[in-house]
Amino acid sequence: ETVHLRLLLLENISQEAVVAFRAQGFHVDHHTKAMSEDELVATLPSYHAVGIRSKTKITARVIKAATKLLVIGCFCIGTNQVDLPAAAQAGIPVFNSPFSNSRSVAELVMGELVALSRQLFERAYELRTGIWNKQSKGCWEVRGKTLGIVGYGHIGSQLSVLAEAFGIRVIFYDVLNIMALGSARQVESLDVLLAEADFVTLHVPELPETINMISTPQLSVMKKGAYLINNSRGKVVDIPALIQSLQSKHLAGACIDVFPSEPGANGAPFDDQLNPWASTLRALPNVILTPHIGGSTEEAQRLIGEEVAQALTRYLDYGSTVGAVNFPEVDLRAMMQDQSDHIRVCHVHKNQPGVLRQVNEALSPYNVEKQYSDSKGDVAYLMADIADVSVEEISKLREIISNTSANILT
Ligand code: NAD
Repeated sequence: ETVHLRLLLLENISQEAVVAFRAQGFHVDHHTKAMSEDELVATLPSYHAVGIRSKTKITARVIKAATKLLVIGCFCIGTNQVDLPAAAQAGIPVFNSPFSNSRSVAELVMGELVALSRQLFERAYELRTGIWNKQSKGCWEVRGKTLGIVGYGHIGSQLSVLAEAFGIRVIFYDVLNIMALGSARQVESLDVLLAEADFVTLHVPELPETINMISTPQLSVMKKGAYLINNSRGKVVDIPALIQSLQSKHLAGACIDVFPSEPGANGAPFDDQLNPWASTLRALPNVILTPHIGGSTEEAQRLIGEEVAQALTRYLDYGSTVGAVNFPEVDLRAMMQDQSDHIRVCHVHKNQPGVLRQVNEALSPYNVEKQYSDSKGDVAYLMADIADVSVEEISKLREIISNTSANILT
């Protein structure tokens, strides 16, 4: 029953999300601004769900006060603004939208390939300053060149398809064996990729193994005259090493969208105080620097609204935690909508011995059609679909299960 569920949407979350929630029967309050911790503590207790972007901080104190809160939606990529362990402890899954901007990043890389190999930004910059400098030396078509994609996930694989449409040969390296799309080819090591590629583009997550994944040894394996593109995470490239490689003209150019330290707000300086090499990097020719805009498009924003709204609805209606960042991911095949004698039990509990036995004892008189449980850290989550139960039995079951420190949703 969703009619009585109250949602608070902050930070001007897209109207698409508001419309989608209202269509589901939720009560929605929409605010354009973020809320302070005190405002949240005062406001959230009457809501079952909250949607935020990056400016609203959901602290442990806010979570403690929000006694009705069932779920948090971050209508953005990052989730640092939420105390994720505190939310998990309180049985509150947190959802975000990590892959809604994959296409935007892949398209930007396509633009960067051409921009680098045609020295586009240098020519455009010169003419802007009043200098006519027509030349073809060192300018190349991308057709027939080899693109090496490091990390063949959501972005890397999209890019693979787009690049082939341009007549580019694609090779990729990934820690997983992944089916190559089109005529792309997986290579067995990063070094093989680096030695073969005319362009190397990075699409790996930031992990201990990927920090400084591209440093002096790797740059020296790259072909002379090759280009490096980084739209992944700032720490994946050792930038002083890159600067050296560009200064010595081993690399012909680079695009960098992400940096080890990034300014917190628009208009803030990108200088040596922030990153000690910033002014050196800024002064290098054929280096295109962009302020972490890889995924910043209107389309990606709209997709984020739709995806997070769907994730919240799937949780509130069916208990599905697929895609939650702080919670065990649990789901079952869709229930038959029109079977009123079916119920879905969604039980969040502490990950400790004995709880499952209690729940299963409570369920044992019934026809359990499907059941699944998983845990993540301290939190465990069980879902079970039960057939042939009467209304009275449902309330009895609800009572028994809630005595096992439960949180029953449907
Ligand atoms: P993804 O998780 O879908 O794919 C990452 C791939 O990297 C996976 O296939 C994984 O197996 C592989 N991988 C992990 N460790 C590796 C290693 N050591 N060596 C080789 N491969 C490895 O991620 P995605 O959505 O494609 O995003 C890729 C990166 O792009 C992430 O770092 C993400 O944060 C970043 N990103 C940046 C922007 C931007 O605005 N610039 C926008 C979106 C995403």
